[in-house]
Amino acid sequence: MRYLIGRYHEIALKGRNQWRFVDQVKSNLRAVFADFKLGAMRGEGPRLIVELPAEMDEEVAAERAALIFGLQNFSLSRPVARDIEAIKREAVAIAHAHAGAGSFRVRATRADKRFALNSMEIDQAAGAAVREAVGLKVDLENPALVITVEILPDAAYLAAGKRPGAGGLPVGITGHGIALLSGGIDSPVAAHRMLRRGLRLDFVHFHSHPLVSAASREKATELAEHLTRYQARSTLMLVGFADVQREIVARAPRALRVVLYRRFMVRIAAALARRSGARVLVTGESLGQVASQTLENMTVIEEAAALPIFRPLVGMDKNEIVDQARKLGSFETSIQPDQDCCSLFVPPHPETHANLDEVRAAERALDGETMVAEAVRRAEIVRLRFP
Ligand code: ATP
Ligand code: MG
Repeated sequence: MRYLIGRYHEIALKGRNQWRFVDQVKSNLRAVFADFKLGAMRGEGPRLIVELPAEMDEEVAAERAALIFGLQNFSLSRPVARDIEAIKREAVAIAHAHAGAGSFRVRATRADKRFALNSMEIDQAAGAAVREAVGLKVDLENPALVITVEILPDAAYLAAGKRPGAGGLPVGITGHGIALLSGGIDSPVAAHRMLRRGLRLDFVHFHSHPLVSAASREKATELAEHLTRYQARSTLMLVGFADVQREIVARAPRALRVVLYRRFMVRIAAALARRSGARVLVTGESLGQVASQTLENMTVIEEAAALPIFRPLVGMDKNEIVDQARKLGSFETSIQPDQDCCSLFVPPHPETHANLDEVRAAERALDGETMVAEAVRRAEIVRLRFP
């Protein structure tokens, strides 16, 4: 029998509300492991113990568990009797399976202090057994293999070390938002950061197909699929933006096009949010990065949104964002060539310090309500699922 033992991160600090967070972790685990039948789940202090199906490959289990926000770290453990001989035998078995490791140490913790030996005595007894049976060298400071022993009330659980968890808060616990996903580098990183803060996300992508190729739609879909691994299910809304752009190009001053495009994007996104119950918009904007992201333009853009806008990357440099995109695994998709709808019909020198009165005056020439309603009505809804 194998168990996933997850250890909470911030959840451990949540006091009386902790059960809500733990319930959310449990249901997220069931969703991300939906193609396997997970067994019983139980809490044991700051740990969640989940029975894994016998046929489940260890690496698959580890990959999936690493997607669960709210877990600081986890291990894939086997229980043995609370008896030092049984503990030694399992420690030796783990060491045999990792005989190439070179060095090791045993690290025991006693959640149940009624066990006869203390942690150090367990370390020493099991460590000596491994050294003799397998010939690995003990290294307390920098071991290649850590054999963890957790003494819990029902059994001793042993594993080949702890693996890093995804951290953060379980998806869904802090609310529901809509992330504006462009197909570029920044927006998937922004979405990931908010998922990690417990926000469940829908995704919206604006494209100017058929004025330009469908490449950006395909990239946005691929990125949304990638992000869906963290929440098991997503809704992606693909919004045709060409008609809105044609109106703006025909009726508004050239220099204001970029800001007006953006104001319509957030209006449409907010209208889509109303339909799905989302309460906040998320973008990948970073202060000063491009013309539309000056303080003045961001302020004018935000003014059009009926919902708050979260910009988790606002204080990050591009190279920091690129780093995160590589870690997330979105970078390679993001750098595929496409034609961003926002660069369509954009003058060489767009307004970088938009003035709200001028922008409002320009919008009086537009039938904004109809433009938004039409875009919402024609939005394509794509349901994504993981696994
Ligand atoms: P990204 O790498 O996310 O494309 P960027 O540096 O290219 O960002 P902009 O193109 O100015 O910056 O976009 C700023 C933000 O506006 C994006 O992070 C995204 O949240 C949103 N956005 C821009 N274009 C689109 C689009 N076509 N569809 C959906 N959201 C968009
Ligand atoms: Mg972009």
